Amino acid sequence: LPEDDNSLLFAAHYRIDQRNVSEMLADSTKTSMVQCAPAVRSSIAEEFGLAPGTLTPGQLAAALRRLGFDFVYDTIFAADVTIMEESSELLQRLESGENLPMFTSCCPGWVRYMETAWPDLLSHLSSCKSPQQMAGALFKTYGAEIAGKSPEQIASVAVMPCTAKKYEAGRPEMQASGTPDVDAVLTVTELADMLKKKGIRLENLPEEDFDVPLGLYSGAGVIFGASGGVMEAALRTAIAVTTGNEVSESGVNFSKAAEGVFRASVDVAGRTVRAVIVSGLAHAAKLLEDVRAGKADFDFMEVMCCTGGCVAGGGQPKLLPHVDVVDAISRRRQSLHNLDKQLSVRVSHKNPSVTALYENYLEKQLGHRSHNLLHTSYGDDAGSHE
Ligand code: SF4
Repeated sequence: LPEDDNSLLFAAHYRIDQRNVSEMLADSTKTSMVQCAPAVRSSIAEEFGLAPGTLTPGQLAAALRRLGFDFVYDTIFAADVTIMEESSELLQRLESGENLPMFTSCCPGWVRYMETAWPDLLSHLSSCKSPQQMAGALFKTYGAEIAGKSPEQIASVAVMPCTAKKYEAGRPEMQASGTPDVDAVLTVTELADMLKKKGIRLENLPEEDFDVPLGLYSGAGVIFGASGGVMEAALRTAIAVTTGNEVSESGVNFSKAAEGVFRASVDVAGRTVRAVIVSGLAHAAKLLEDVRAGKADFDFMEVMCCTGGCVAGGGQPKLLPHVDVVDAISRRRQSLHNLDKQLSVRVSHKNPSVTALYENYLEKQLGHRSHNLLHTSYGDDAGSHE
């Protein structure tokens, strides 16, 4: 750890989250469930000396099991659920014409920026919680039912590429299960440190599967970890359900419109949807000014705070001075797109565990149970516990 004074505060947080997770794992009254974000599997190998972009989903699942988690689930399953809800919400808004353009809501830094700097535009944000929070709510309800436990008996841990996800998990409204839906968040570096202290060498482990049902995922959910992935995943499902044409890729080519801004048009539900991807928060302001002035020339916008998306998040492995940062981030991103192409199911609505979730528990998209567990509202005081 660095030795300057500011690092002491950082070090304290670092150790508190690790200690909390260790205590949960040692508590015999708790059943532990862990999720890991898409971008974690494209970077954690770097902490064990492997090259940026080395993909290790199977070893990551094995490592989490060795650490002691009872259920090794996956945020990507919840990313698929997010697409089910968010694409339905987009279609509903396109039909009604209300609260357009719609903004994605899976990046907590972006959501907090909207709450503090653009509160008059909050109605444009999708009401969908992020995949982390959807997963947490489902672990402690549907997952608890499957495990024969109550929400209070579940310890819910998330492994994220992001320090803002710690803040998001602590928001007071994120308790749909009656307890905090996510009890603790570890960054990639924190998890790697815990594994090393236990002598668990990720690179030497066999590949194992994530547990079902809440660890089964599609390629569409995988690409959430890179900028543009949420948009691509949402369009794949929106096009398929409105045209009947099953697509594994939206077939949309985004072109650069400005620094950090990419645009495309696609036909959905008999109309042209103008889509915008913003990579890096600094590039969002001009578009938001257009929305405020009633001059927005787009219908759906994805914004991720970090340039490149979660593959470049603040909780990712620190790149060594001799490493080309742009190249390393690009390799992490490419590895997620490669994983998407390797999977037999590449659209969220075809994930059999997602289909079963709706048939057995949620009943329908945007339904009563979905509303209670998977959606939220925003406001200036929503983060007032800070
Ligand atoms: Fe976190 Fe950055 Fe991903 Fe946003 S883009 S969720 S801030 S890692």
